[in-house]
Amino acid sequence: METPTSRSSDPIARLARSRHEFGEHGGVNLSIETSATFTVLEAGKMPEIFGGRAGPQGGCFLYGRHFNPTVMVLSRHLAALEALPSAYCTASGMAAISGTLLQACDSGDHIVAGQALYGGTWALLHDYLTRKAGIGATFVDLSDLDAVARAFTPRTRVLYCETLSNPTLRVADLPALARIAHERGAKLVVDNTFAPVAVTPALHGADVVIHSLTKFINGASDIVAGCVCASGEFIDQLYDLHFGSLMLLGPAMDPRAAYEVATRMPNLGLRITEHARRALACAERLEALGAAVIYPGLASHPDHAVFRRIANPGYGAGGLLSVDLGTAERAYRFMEHLQNIEDFGYMAVSLGYSDTLMSASASSTSSELDEASLRAAGISPGLVRLSVGYTGTLEDRLDQLERGYRAAGG
Ligand SMILES: *Cc1c(COP(=O)(O)O)cnc(C)c1O
Repeated sequence: METPTSRSSDPIARLARSRHEFGEHGGVNLSIETSATFTVLEAGKMPEIFGGRAGPQGGCFLYGRHFNPTVMVLSRHLAALEALPSAYCTASGMAAISGTLLQACDSGDHIVAGQALYGGTWALLHDYLTRKAGIGATFVDLSDLDAVARAFTPRTRVLYCETLSNPTLRVADLPALARIAHERGAKLVVDNTFAPVAVTPALHGADVVIHSLTKFINGASDIVAGCVCASGEFIDQLYDLHFGSLMLLGPAMDPRAAYEVATRMPNLGLRITEHARRALACAERLEALGAAVIYPGLASHPDHAVFRRIANPGYGAGGLLSVDLGTAERAYRFMEHLQNIEDFGYMAVSLGYSDTLMSASASSTSSELDEASLRAAGISPGLVRLSVGYTGTLEDRLDQLERGYRAAGG
């Protein structure tokens, strides 16, 4: 399934040019196709659909776990955003990740992955896929390109990374990683959940781009959803009747959720730009106070140059920043003061919400990692990750943040 997408290098321009879908009665919003099953006019059409000779591109839908017209509209927007020919949405980000890896690898195959990853992904690779599917994984420091190349085996099918690693915000050198993967016949699979709009991994060689739509793309923290963006061939494989991971494991997105997410796509660019403007201001304030702050938009960030090389101009350096308070106790005091005294934001996992969300990664979203893996990934017990929101005035927020930092002993 491929749709021609705009060639523009600007993600928001591509998004705007991905075909607008009008509602059934000419409404400016798309209609929701809730049906779980679809009729045909002639009985002979059914075997054509099952045989793959007729399909959704020709308006022939089959069943809700296969393709759905409303989910396809959202998927088309996401393919355009990520400059890839095709995409399809899933019930969660983890469904997109597990479906992609099970599709790209057979039992006995191998994955090379960054060592700082979303906790669920780390557990999937480290524990689940090894035991349940016989798919091995080697974790490496992605900034050491020689180590990345050395980790490949003849059975490596995937090099897996996050554009910005969680929660240390190291930046993947995507062109270099793509070269290493492609020279060895492997796919570069990138989780771009932390950097939609800011970075377009496919423009730097990524073959598959995954999102947890639960985060910035939906932006309201009210829907769990994901997507896989890739070639038309790969998306078709995911829905193969005999070997399609998404078809057979069945994490289908509800069309009502697809509609909700689609209504929030037009303001994605505005939201991302404002998240990033405020995250930079917060990072600069914390840095001026002498805090150990990690933000790819700061010149002090170890991968600042890499980020500038791969980032789309004009959309900033993302809405996430991390600050190392040294100990868990100071990290907790910092977050409690900011939530309970200042009303600056909320102690909650997840990201990309309108308000600021704060979590101490070592004891929350990265707690799947063991001690040694936490240390290797640079996740100290005092590390607090902030997803900077856009409510309130920036001046107020910066003053609140400063008081929180001082209350924690900074
Ligand atoms: C949240 C998240 C996921 C998992 O997505 P779900 O929608 O919760 O399944 C994967 N990767 C990253 C980077 C995330 O932040």
